[in-house]
Amino acid sequence: FEAESHNKPSVEFDESMQSQGRYYLLMEKEIRNALAADEFVLYFQPQLNLLTNRLEGVEALVRWQHPEKGLLTPDKFLPDIEKLGLNSELDGYVLNKACQTIGEWYERYHRRIVIAVNITAVEFQDPELVDKIQALLFEHNVPSSFLELEITENMVMTDINSAMGTIVTLQSMGIKVSIDDFGTGYSSLVYLRKLPIDKIKIDRSFITEVASNDSDLTIVKSMVELSHGLGKRVLAEGVETVEQLNLLRHIGCDAVQGYFIKKPLPEDEFVQYLKRR
Ligand code: C2E
Ligand code: MG
Ligand code: MG
Ligand code: MG
Repeated sequence: FEAESHNKPSVEFDESMQSQGRYYLLMEKEIRNALAADEFVLYFQPQLNLLTNRLEGVEALVRWQHPEKGLLTPDKFLPDIEKLGLNSELDGYVLNKACQTIGEWYERYHRRIVIAVNITAVEFQDPELVDKIQALLFEHNVPSSFLELEITENMVMTDINSAMGTIVTLQSMGIKVSIDDFGTGYSSLVYLRKLPIDKIKIDRSFITEVASNDSDLTIVKSMVELSHGLGKRVLAEGVETVEQLNLLRHIGCDAVQGYFIKKPLPEDEFVQYLKRR
């Protein structure tokens, strides 16, 4: 059976390869056009400091305002971007928009707000990342301490030496770095301790049942203790209820983000929210 399938060229296989090739060719064109036409927009989700009850920053979350398909969330297009190797293009676009926005909010509303930007693995490994960011901060006249980069544990652990170098450089420039989706990847506590990161973001999957599931509560408590023991701040992602919020406050979590505080908002609505606060 094996020998036969090896010798016989499969028509189905060829056709699906061809149509897949066509799909990606079209998709690449569409994504490049969308970048050039400014069809990607940033939504902003507040992060609340539980000690001060003040806004500690916002996370920028990209959306594609597609001319035919409407507003698309990242799950609809990030996998294609990844496959096509366009991560660097998208991350550069988002970084530029974020820096521009920090500058504009300061000019218009005299508010300096920290914006956290998600960085993909490929982009984080780009040796030119630091220079690119420095150029953007300069161009938009933004102090480096208002930019934060969110990376994941796996991105750090795959090439610990190069990641360490990048994080140390970013830190020395005054740029903040946080670990996103903490608990879902692989990390070594020895390295985590050595990394000059500012914040650990506990993944939403641990928060969903934190108020009803004892083992989840135990895990979250340990993560908070661990972060503090390592000298890092800790934020809980995906907070959706007042019970979760109170519990997290009670166990000493430093900050929260989630639908209970606010859903990610388009810029105009976020600015309204800022003015109300
Ligand atoms: P993430 O960085 O972990 O972002 C948090 C995700 O959880 C966001 O989904 C946010 O809308 C959602 N979320 C926030 N609070 C709650 C909550 O209380 N409940 C629930 N159910 N969800 C909540 P989103 O915007 O769809 O983004 C998904 C992922 O896509 C992000 O996960 C991030 O990994 C990636 N992503 C988003 N924007 C960018 C970007 O600009 N560049 C890159 N490279 N990746 C991005
Ligand atoms: Mg994130
Ligand atoms: Mg996350
Ligand atoms: Mg993520």
